[in-house]
Amino acid sequence: MHLTWPQIDELIGDLGISQVKVYGIPRGGAVVAGLARLRLGVTPVDNPHDAEFALDDIIDSGATAERIKAQYGLETLALIDKRDDDTYKGWVHFPWEEEPDQDIASSVTRMLEYIGEDPKREGLIETPRRVVESWKTLYAGYGKGKVEMRWFVDDTDEMIVEKGISFYSMCEHHMLPFFGTVAIGYIPNGQVVGISKLSRLVGRLSRKLQIQERLTRQVGEVLEASSGFVLQDGTQQPKTVKGVAVHVEAQHLCMMMRGVSQHGTTLVTNYLTGAFRDKPEARAEFLAAVNGG
Ligand code: ZN
Repeated sequence: MHLTWPQIDELIGDLGISQVKVYGIPRGGAVVAGLARLRLGVTPVDNPHDAEFALDDIIDSGATAERIKAQYGLETLALIDKRDDDTYKGWVHFPWEEEPDQDIASSVTRMLEYIGEDPKREGLIETPRRVVESWKTLYAGYGKGKVEMRWFVDDTDEMIVEKGISFYSMCEHHMLPFFGTVAIGYIPNGQVVGISKLSRLVGRLSRKLQIQERLTRQVGEVLEASSGFVLQDGTQQPKTVKGVAVHVEAQHLCMMMRGVSQHGTTLVTNYLTGAFRDKPEARAEFLAAVNGG
């Protein structure tokens, strides 16, 4: 959301301080300290050791506030504290910031400088913009709501397996890609799911920051939960599948490129419920279908 100057004015007033020395945390907090000086009569100081409070524009995870507390013993006051206020979900934009796309592109420019590059070099001029643009695909899984899994009434009671669903995801620890294939199996219970929905589900859940274990589990959980209702003669009746199996094989660039593991190592994860968990023969049939022809 875009905050306006009148809203900023109100939030400054809500800080409820005056006649104290404050340290504005760069960069947004320094702007807040300047505004609070004019409006509330506080005194901004350059050295946090001289301050009674730290000021910031926004507290997101609270990591910065904790660091300031540990380092200088200062409480941080912010215009917006996401830890205890649900009003400001998602991206918050302050009037002194660039537009979100431009602001993030500027951060990419700073990253280029940080790694030792010259962002003005010809090949890099458009890079920050392209990087931000690419995120629209890489992180397309955010903000889309849930995938509608459409089930059809059908008497098939044999295991159904769709395998070789390729995916590309980003590991949440290093923001580096991991990619591979997913196999999904389930044992129907009076219904089958539209096959295109399975790869769409994998796409939705993988196009975000993930870890492979959670991706595997979420695919299984969403599939199983969606099977709970069958539209039959206009009535919804709860009837879940008899089991779900998800098998993921993937390679992680964060492991490969950082030399943690040898090139080509594959991480395998499984998620099994119902019959796949209880009956060894069902599990064996699924794994045979995955590994065999
Ligand atoms: Zn990683």
